[in-house]
Formats: sequence, C-alpha cells, structure tokens
Amino acid sequence: MTNVCLDCGKCCLETEMILSQEDVKRIINNFEGEIEQEDFCNISSDGFLQLRNNDHHCYFFDTLTKTCIIYDTRPQGCKFYPLIYNMKEDKCVLDEDCPKPSVFYPNINERKKTCLEIIKFLKNQLKINF
Ligand code: SF4
Ligand code: SF4
Repeated sequence: MTNVCLDCGKCCLETEMILSQEDVKRIINNFEGEIEQEDFCNISSDGFLQLRNNDHHCYFFDTLTKTCIIYDTRPQGCKFYPLIYNMKEDKCVLDEDCPKPSVFYPNINERKKTCLEIIKFLKNQLKINF
C-alpha cells in the first residue's frame, strides 16, 4: 500500500513524530551514507527523541518526489500513522491531518488491532505508563 500517499506527504511536514531507540538504531544501521543521531533527532519538550525538521519538513522527506527516503525503515510511529494515540482522550484516533485515513484503516477491527500494537509500543519502547 505504498502508492496511496503519492502527491500528499502532509504528515511529513512539521513532523513531531516520537522515535524509540530501536527506531534510531534501525535508521542509522540501514541508511545509505553517513548519518548520525543528531542529524535527524531532536529532544522534545517531554524529553523524547523526535524527528527533526529541515525547512518545515521531516529530515527524511524528499520534497521533489514527496516521498520518504527511508520508507522501509521509517519510524514505527510513521508505520502506525494515521492511527495515533491521543493521551488527553486516552484512546487511539485517526489523525485529522491525513486526507485518506480510511484507506489505511478501513474498519474498526483494523483500528483496534493496531491500537493494541501502538499501546504495546508506547509501553515497551517508549516506557510510557498509562
Ligand atoms: S499517511 Fe496520510 S497524510 Fe501521510 S502522506 Fe499518506 S495520505 Fe498523506
Ligand atoms: S520518517 Fe518518513 S514517513 Fe516519517 S515523517 Fe519522515 S519522511 Fe515522513
């Protein structure tokens, strides 16, 4: 399902995507060329590793092709997207910024299944307790 995002890339603009240590290691180990954590990571105000923006878009977003240059090894949060966990509402929601969320999550069962994976990811890899 890699073609559904063509000509969009909205979620890669002004990204605030949180990264796990596993994400960072996987990206560095698979990147073609030299790259260091500081090149693509910031520390969020909550103390989490976060994707860095360059000129208002994710470090890994190619503005010409509007694609992710590390698609296969992109952060886990980008793989879950547009399903995200809303801490305030304490539940998974489809991000309103994505114009075609139903393409990725066509039914409630898909959302429920991925929501469990998101919660596991948040607990195990980001060490967030609910
Ligand atoms: S996931 Fe949604 S917002 Fe992101 S590029 Fe695809 S269609 Fe656009
Ligand atoms: S890592 Fe890729 S999919 Fe994730 S925000 Fe950056 S460009 Fe978009």
